[in-house]
This record gives sequence, structure tokens and C-alpha cells, in this order.
Amino acid sequence: MAEKERPTFILDGMYGSLARWLRLLGYDTIFCNDWVDDDILIATEDRILLTRDKELITRAQTRGLKVFNPGSRPIYKMLRRLQEYLGTEFILNPSKSRCSLCNARLAHAQPEEVKDRVPARSFNQFTLYWQCTNKDCRQVYWQGRHWRRIQATLNRI
Ligand SMILES: [Zn+2]
Repeated sequence: MAEKERPTFILDGMYGSLARWLRLLGYDTIFCNDWVDDDILIATEDRILLTRDKELITRAQTRGLKVFNPGSRPIYKMLRRLQEYLGTEFILNPSKSRCSLCNARLAHAQPEEVKDRVPARSFNQFTLYWQCTNKDCRQVYWQGRHWRRIQATLNRI
């Protein structure tokens, strides 16, 4: 699927962990923590709204917005339902990932650039790093244990 055709998402406050997942999987995702419904509906625009709030679903449908209810945990079941809805397959590719904290794109980083923000134990094991391109965030990512857990969860889908 071409980058331009990738769907973008907006998630209501119940879906914090799903929002982090979608960002790591490379999807532009707004997470509406503590937003009122009116603001969520205005911000949805061309995005797919993910919510299980029945009233919000009805209001979105009335406005002709794209809305989907991915249900509840565990996360791999939510991702599986979403994958079926989209007709796509989620692939973890760190070069496409977005920052799980702020949704900005990631960029390759040299080990020396991030050394002071990576635990020494991990730094000795890994050589490939990515860094959030948002100057106010600069979160560092590497393919450590957390990354392997994500891959294991994707394999369950
Ligand atoms: Zn970030």
C-alpha cells in the first residue's frame, strides 16, 4: 500500500495503548485523551475514528464519518479486528514507525547521538537506533526486548 493511501486514525480516550501500537506500526494517529465528543468529531475529518462509545459511533455515522469499533482487549484481538476491517496486514517496520508518545516520524540515529538516553546494558547489545524527530520529544527506540514482545504479539494475529 502506498504511503499516501495509508489510513490515518483518531482514537478516543479508551484506546491509549491501541494508539501507541498504531503509531509504532506506522499509522498517523491522534489520541484524544480527555477530549469532549464534539471536538473528536470535528478533528476526525478524513481519519477513521476508533471508539466503542455507542453514542459517539452514532453521531459519527450521522455525519458520514468513517468509524469502527475494535472492541476490547486483549490487544492482539483488537488489532486483528482492525486488520480485517482495513483489509490489510500490520507489519512492524521501524523505518516507517511513528513515535508512540507523540506521533511524529522517527529517523535513524547514530549510537553516539543517543548514548546518554539508552541504558548501558542495552547500549552494549544494540547498534541500530531511531529517534523521534519532534524536538520536544526525542524519544529513542531500538530493537530490544520490548520490540520482540511487539513482534510476538503481531505473530499471534
Ligand atoms: Zn515523540
